[in-house]
Amino acid sequence: MASLLTLALISELRGIVGERGLITAANQLQTYECDGLTAFRIPPLAVLLPESTKQVQGILRICDRERIPFVGRGAGTGLSGGALPSENSLVISLARMNRILNIDIPNQQITVQPGVINANVTAAVSPQGYFYAPDPSSQTVCSIGGNIAENAGGAHCLKYGFTVTHILELTVVLPNGDIATFGSKTLDTPGYDLSGVFVGSEGTLGIATEATLRIVRKPETIQVILAAFDTISSAAQSVSDVIASGLLPAAMEIMDRLSIEAAEISVHPNYPSCEALLLIELDGPEVEVNLQMTSVIEICKKNAAWETRLAVDEKARFLVWKGRKAAFAAAGRLSPNYIVQDGVIPRTSLPTVLQQLNAMAAKEGLRVTNVFHAGDGNLHPIVLYDRDNPGEEERAIDLSLRILEVCVQAGGSITGEHGVGREKQCSMSYMFADPDLETMQRVRRAFDPLNLANPEKIFPTPRLCGERSRGAYAPHPIETSGIAEVF
Ligand SMILES: Cc1cc2nc3c(=O)[nH]c(=O)nc-3n(C[C@H](O)[C@H](O)[C@H](O)COP(=O)(O)OP(=O)(O)OC[C@H]3O[C@@H](n4cnc5c(N)ncnc54)[C@H](O)[C@@H]3O)c2cc1C
Repeated sequence: MASLLTLALISELRGIVGERGLITAANQLQTYECDGLTAFRIPPLAVLLPESTKQVQGILRICDRERIPFVGRGAGTGLSGGALPSENSLVISLARMNRILNIDIPNQQITVQPGVINANVTAAVSPQGYFYAPDPSSQTVCSIGGNIAENAGGAHCLKYGFTVTHILELTVVLPNGDIATFGSKTLDTPGYDLSGVFVGSEGTLGIATEATLRIVRKPETIQVILAAFDTISSAAQSVSDVIASGLLPAAMEIMDRLSIEAAEISVHPNYPSCEALLLIELDGPEVEVNLQMTSVIEICKKNAAWETRLAVDEKARFLVWKGRKAAFAAAGRLSPNYIVQDGVIPRTSLPTVLQQLNAMAAKEGLRVTNVFHAGDGNLHPIVLYDRDNPGEEERAIDLSLRILEVCVQAGGSITGEHGVGREKQCSMSYMFADPDLETMQRVRRAFDPLNLANPEKIFPTPRLCGERSRGAYAPHPIETSGIAEVF
């Protein structure tokens, strides 16, 4: 189990990262006691800010020797408590490992340190006509390391794929301090796909210290249409009809009235005032985009869109996306506190699931606003509440978790892109049977037999989840001989 930090250990850690790289003052540690999910807070023992793979290695060697848990942290924008410290853990902030190491345009790749901000990757290759496709709404602040750990998505992942499809090679410091390379800079690598295993592992398999990312040529033409509807059902039907017609837009997003209003107050995107706004972006050769846009407009009109507005120039498109990407933060204009949920459902279930969610919210006396990556069925219900009203936070947390049960019952998933973290670990057994979870645990233990890397995340534990820690099948014993017990 973890030891508390002794003066000798503090001095050893300072020897690795230098005076500037170690934070132990209680008031400064407060910044690191939670991520974007502020309902959960645990102060870390100390925060380390390494600047190189070697320094990360030095820290993890000490953690391994002293059995100290550690939690990697990028920009702390995670919404599932992934970067929440564990009891008696160190936080390793990768914020100072923020250099772009190499740009290789002929091979369409870029190598970066994990603390590089997502939007800075596109900024670095944009002059050469390229972009980095995964575009979480938090892209101006979140880090590539955090994106890798969460397999981050974004509006344009409908066409271009999630983070996992854009990772070529990773340098990872394993929990015992060994440095490993997963994947390769070439397109096909023999052996197990360890890069695929690492992406989405939420900091539980080690710390990524370098990543080579695939970049994509900018399309010749981009057009975005805003279609205004009187009901979410008509907007959702349009999404299904567009996909059924054989088109693959770059992005398809829906915002409900409350989200539209919040975005409007916050960044003034000048959206139509409606019950449901559908944003569809098409990209590609100009002739093709023009033709496809005609079909998209026809489909929207057939589903009773009463306004279809085209944003063709860069300034107009920028404003459209600025409004959509501001939607989570703008929820702060509607309520002092909120929880952003992240379920996935089959696209076609959107209207029925939303009816269910609205009924559940009304019963709890809470408001829920919705924005969706509608093309891939990824819902983001935002549960609004006021922490100062006794019991309201607990009801909001409970409602947000019950929303996930509804998603799973509809044939979906408990997370599309924000990860499981601390928030949803007790919901894993809605989706996975014991053998599924055990298999994942075995993978985790192969990397981290001492359970030091971001412990108490992802997996349901009896301590945190009680009966809900069990999966759908009858439990059977886990082989733990020679390796540390995880729970
Ligand atoms: C306003 C807002 C909008 C958002 N929109 C989206 C969205 O559209 N799509 C989306 O996918 N997410 C979205 N998010 C969630 C969040 O931004 C993403 O999960 C993002 O990938 C987290 O990056 P980060 O650098 O902040 O990581 P953090 O929050 O610091 O950490 C996230 C996880 O990554 C681990 N980690 C961080 N760095 C490393 C590393 N180098 N090696 C190993 N593990 C590491 C941490 O331990 C933690 O488990 C949004 C968040 C906010 C606040």
